[in-house]
Amino acid sequence: MILSGVSVQRRDSNGRLFTTLSVADLSIPAGARIGLAGPSGAGKSTLLDVMAGLLVPSTGTVTWGATVLSDLCDRERAVWRRTYVGQVFQDFLLIPELSILANVVLPLSFSQFWPSGDQRQRALDLIHDLGLKDAGRRAAVLSRGEQQRVALARALILRPSILLADEPTASLDQASAALVTDLLFDVVRQHQATLIIASHDPAILSRMDHVHHVVAGQLQEAS
Ligand code: ADP
Repeated sequence: MILSGVSVQRRDSNGRLFTTLSVADLSIPAGARIGLAGPSGAGKSTLLDVMAGLLVPSTGTVTWGATVLSDLCDRERAVWRRTYVGQVFQDFLLIPELSILANVVLPLSFSQFWPSGDQRQRALDLIHDLGLKDAGRRAAVLSRGEQQRVALARALILRPSILLADEPTASLDQASAALVTDLLFDVVRQHQATLIIASHDPAILSRMDHVHHVVAGQLQEAS
């Protein structure tokens, strides 16, 4: 992935434009495991959304392989995202009325009517591997830590080749965080996926190939 001349401008409450992200040049090799560290509000989530094709930057280009995301129309970008990207959001974005299992298989419903037996089994295996009990429970009754793991299982269900996670261990105790981190690394190794994680967690950052520091919307190299 190559980011070139990327900036994101937003408006503050007075309607004034300000720059939340400015990345002149960033290159991430396929299969790399990259951490994004930095204080709250520094722009990590914004950078993840730009990389994921969810947010179109105000300037610059994001290129994954031969695909320049800004050349795609909204529909093409949605298809590209569905094909390649698994994303774990900081607020999880689960559907509270749906069960754990129904949330996990949700990405499948955009391309087919109902999951196959194999896909349903894969969802149940992921739910089990993440230490979640009773896949029939509604998301509304889950703790934050459980919701975080459901969000991760949902991001993994389509075997993405790009996995982007925003603070994936923030709501977990140490043992659950270690379990989730191990699973993340196993999955990316199995699928040779590219993993990009925004985190404050030194345990997860220490396992990445490289960590970029995001400070006031800009990248500073940390290691
Ligand atoms: P981080 O993930 O490092 O905490 P964010 O990317 O969430 O940082 O935020 C970077 C900056 O952009 C912050 O100043 C935040 O308030 C601002 N911001 C984030 N999302 C929006 C939005 N949808 N509209 C306006 N400003 C936003």
